[in-house]
Amino acid sequence: MKSLAYLFAAGLLAWAFGAQAASQDHGSADTGHAKSAAVDQKGGGHGASADKGASADKHAKPTGGHAKKATGGDAKKGGAPHWSYAGRIGPEEWGKLSRDFRACAAGAMQSPIDLGGRGSLAATGEAIAFDYRVTPLSIVNNGHTVQVNYAPGSSITVGGKRYELLQFHFHAPSEHGVGSRPAAMEVHFVHKSADGELAVVGVLIDGGQENLALREVWAAMPKRAGPERTSNQVVVNGRDLLPDDTSYYRYMGSLTTPPCTEGVNWYMLKGRIEVGVAQVERFAAAVGGPNARPTQALNHRLVVAPRAAN
Ligand SMILES: [Zn+2]
Repeated sequence: MKSLAYLFAAGLLAWAFGAQAASQDHGSADTGHAKSAAVDQKGGGHGASADKGASADKHAKPTGGHAKKATGGDAKKGGAPHWSYAGRIGPEEWGKLSRDFRACAAGAMQSPIDLGGRGSLAATGEAIAFDYRVTPLSIVNNGHTVQVNYAPGSSITVGGKRYELLQFHFHAPSEHGVGSRPAAMEVHFVHKSADGELAVVGVLIDGGQENLALREVWAAMPKRAGPERTSNQVVVNGRDLLPDDTSYYRYMGSLTTPPCTEGVNWYMLKGRIEVGVAQVERFAAAVGGPNARPTQALNHRLVVAPRAAN
C-alpha cells in the first residue's frame, strides 16, 4: 500500500509543510502546485457549506486588534474597529472596516473552507503528536467567542515542529464543513511555534449527547462579554475534547476573524465529538448568536485530506 501513491503523497506533504514559510505570499508556491494537485481524489467532494465566521483564532494573534486574551470582554481595543457576524459590520464588510483587515477581503488563502471540495488529495499525513496537560480553568467571553486560555506547557508536534497550545475556543455553527452541512459547533485549538507560526487544530462537533468535558467548561462560562475568569479549583484538559480519530485535513489558511491574517497551518481533524442541544443553545446565548464566518474560496490551494480508509 505504501508504494507509489504513498511516495507521491509524502512528497506532496513535504511540499505542504515546506510551503508554510511561503504561505504569506499566497501566489507562487500554491499556484504551481494546484496544477499538479489535479490529482484530486477522495477527500470527498462536497458542495459549499453555509457556515459562518469564527473568531477566536485571531485572539491568539498578538497582532489581532481584538486580542483580548487576558482582559477578555469588551472589544474596544486600542482603535481596532468593532466587527460582528451580521449586518453592517458583518463578514462581508470586514475587509472595509480597517486597513488592517484588508486580508479579509483581498486575501486568497482565507479560512474557513469547505473541506470536501475539489483540490483535495487523499494522503496519510504524519500523525499529530498531542501533548496536552491539564490547565487551571481560565475562561473569557470576549463577545465573539468563549475562550479557554491555556497555561504554558502543552503542545502539538507535527511536521517536525512544536507548537505551543495558547487557547481553545468555540464556534456555533461550525465554520469548516465537509459537504454542504455545517456541524453544530467547532472547537479551535490555537497553537504557536517558537518562531511565531500559527497552527490551529479544529474539531467538528455534531449535535448529539451532552458533552461531559464541555459541561465543566460551560459551568464556568460567562453569560456575557467580560473579563477573564480564572478558577484555582477547576482544571480542564483540551485532550478531553479530541476525537479518537485524529487524522486530519490539512491546508494553509488564515485566522477566521479580523484581521484575517494568513499563514495559518490548519489541521481539521477527521474524527468528531458530540455536544448536547442545550449546550449549543447556552453557548449561542452567551455570544449573542451565530459566530461562524462563511466558507471562503479555495482558490489555488490544495487540501490534503485523510484517506477514506485508514
Ligand atoms: Zn476559531
